[in-house]
Amino acid sequence: MKKGASIVLNTKRVYNNYIAGRWTEAADAQRLEIQDPSNGSHLADIARSSSEDVDRAVGAARASLSGEWGRMSATDRGRILHRIGEGVLRNADLLAQLEARDVGKPLKQARADVEALARYCEFYGAAADKVHGDTIPYRSGFTALTIYEPHGVTAHIVPWNYPMQIIGRSLGAALAMGNAAVVKPAEEACLTLLEFTRIAEEAGLPAGALNLVTGTGEEAGAALSAHPGINHISFTGSLATGALVQAAAARHAVPVTLELGGKSAQIVFADADLDRALPFLVMAGIQNAGQTCSASSRILIEQPIYEEVVARMAEAYQRLKVGPALSDLDVGPVVSHRQKSIVDGYIALAASGGAEVAGQGVIVPDAPAGGAYVRPTLIRDVPATHRLAQEEIFGPVQVTMPFASEQEAIDLANGTPFGLVCGIWSGDGGRQLRLARAIQAGQVFINNYGAGGGIELPFGGVKRSGHGREKGFEALYGFATTKTISIYHG
Ligand code: NAD
Repeated sequence: MKKGASIVLNTKRVYNNYIAGRWTEAADAQRLEIQDPSNGSHLADIARSSSEDVDRAVGAARASLSGEWGRMSATDRGRILHRIGEGVLRNADLLAQLEARDVGKPLKQARADVEALARYCEFYGAAADKVHGDTIPYRSGFTALTIYEPHGVTAHIVPWNYPMQIIGRSLGAALAMGNAAVVKPAEEACLTLLEFTRIAEEAGLPAGALNLVTGTGEEAGAALSAHPGINHISFTGSLATGALVQAAAARHAVPVTLELGGKSAQIVFADADLDRALPFLVMAGIQNAGQTCSASSRILIEQPIYEEVVARMAEAYQRLKVGPALSDLDVGPVVSHRQKSIVDGYIALAASGGAEVAGQGVIVPDAPAGGAYVRPTLIRDVPATHRLAQEEIFGPVQVTMPFASEQEAIDLANGTPFGLVCGIWSGDGGRQLRLARAIQAGQVFINNYGAGGGIELPFGGVKRSGHGREKGFEALYGFATTKTISIYHG
């Protein structure tokens, strides 16, 4: 289908679970309604799974490991991933429009997610037969070697903000390494993952290698993270839920990768190329209506250029247009009215503690009344201890703070419980590297900022942003366990 062509979505469709290669209703036939956040309308119904459905999905994944999937060569696993990637691109318009309606993200951002999903399939498809172990110098008369083996059954618990990108990175690496998977998407947004599963089935992925159960976190998510048949959990979501998942997994000594939230800073020095920096400063805060783990929600600015940068950012904010996802404006709605009331609550704090609103975008007049729209808001002079400077807001809100020295910039950047991403804008090579080493974050961008991007780049947090790495080649090792073999041959 031609890019941009309009397609009619089969709305109010009922989606079932995918277990052992079959589309099946929840065991007790319960369903959940999915809303379109652009207008509040009923978009589709999904299965509301219970522990019984999760148990069947884990059993199907286990069985696949001793069947066709478990016996498949790494090269053939890679070929299947490539075919899935091709299927994603063939279905690009359907996936983009579905994601736009389900999450509320403007079409161009949903399209970027489709491209990323296809790239993950290509990247991990090509990597599948390139992971190999070592031979190790050992005692005389011995040969010792290591091999990487799959964990077995992997669980993938996914949030609603970037379903396609997040499943691409974790499932791509897990399948490339020969694991089987059970996916539990977020109840707020899971329709593209259901379509992705159909695409994987059509690409020839053997039954049981990928199983998907929808439903609430408290029911299906909790049952999955506590299931004794799981060998690894990849969790992406909030700190509070991540802690529950890790505690449940600990009962069976199951390893967990936690990809949690952030309060990432961009640090702008007076010698920065401001014309280049400005679009990144703003975009990294408003992309996906700020609902990005690696959103740059804090902008730290060196004092001599503080007023200039705040004024230029405020001007950019005043030009931002907010409206329905399919209108493809700068910013769509947030994912739900619940999320809107949380973000609006944070914006209301702007009048406290010396902070002040510097600029706001506009909601277009024809935006439907039932939509969950929030005005993107730039807040200046926020004290370092203010809630707006410390807590993950997860909406289109950025705060600015001045700093006087390199050390103060480092202290401010590191002065939150999180440590996901940081951006440094400066023309001074020594300073760039000094800061890159001093910043507590999993990724540092110098004179650029890659919120959500970088399929090839290892990604993950320190401190309360989580642990373990996804993306890039490194993620493959996270979805494998090392076996050491020592052979005595005299
Ligand atoms: P969330 O923690 O509420 O939900 C995430 C997933 O966990 C959903 O599928 C949900 O159904 C499930 N869940 C909820 N309760 C559960 C339970 N008791 N047991 C097991 N699973 C349960 O997070 P969210 O609101 O969907 O997503 C937003 C958060 O995700 C933000 O904090 C954001 O920063 C973070 N995030 C992090 C990354 C990253 O890569 N670091 C990427 C995207 C989002």
